[in-house]
Amino acid sequence: MRFRLGADEGETRPSLVLISSAIAAPDEADALADVDTAEAWFDAVAAALPPGELGDDLGVDAEALDALRQVRGAVEQILLGRPRASSLAVVNRYDTESAPSWGLDLDGRGDLQVSRRLWGPGVESWLGTVAADCIDLVRSGGRDRLTTCATPTCRVVLLPEHHRRRYCSAACAHRTRQARYHQSRSPRP
Ligand SMILES: [Zn+2]
Repeated sequence: MRFRLGADEGETRPSLVLISSAIAAPDEADALADVDTAEAWFDAVAAALPPGELGDDLGVDAEALDALRQVRGAVEQILLGRPRASSLAVVNRYDTESAPSWGLDLDGRGDLQVSRRLWGPGVESWLGTVAADCIDLVRSGGRDRLTTCATPTCRVVLLPEHHRRRYCSAACAHRTRQARYHQSRSPRP
């Protein structure tokens, strides 16, 4: 699993989900290696979102794969490195042109309703969400609190909601505690 959703694990940020498609445990390959793996990965991302958030068109073609990689590179550079103007331009453009927004409608009885407005198919809408999230991480100061999972072999990036959260998942926390336990019981030379 490259991204985790769970009440005990804090909020999952779309930008970190995209970054984690490449930065993951050493036994996991790049989820954006080709169209097929990217489609399976994006299906799992979409399944974790509220219904209607991305519309029905969740396909990943060569163009969508290029877009996913381009935004991933830009977001990674902005959040974890020294950003260049070209990366900022990519994120600003997706935020402006593709991020889903809310619109007002009237239902059959003339009552007010709020509905999601999408500005492109699934991948494009989601990249708009990622771009908006990336900007929010900079604006809110979250960028400065980003850290990697405390399990030495895991490189998943997290935004700790509170000081105690050091692992990307319960599985990682368990693995590390177990390793420490075995270490403490092994005879010293
Ligand atoms: Zn981890």
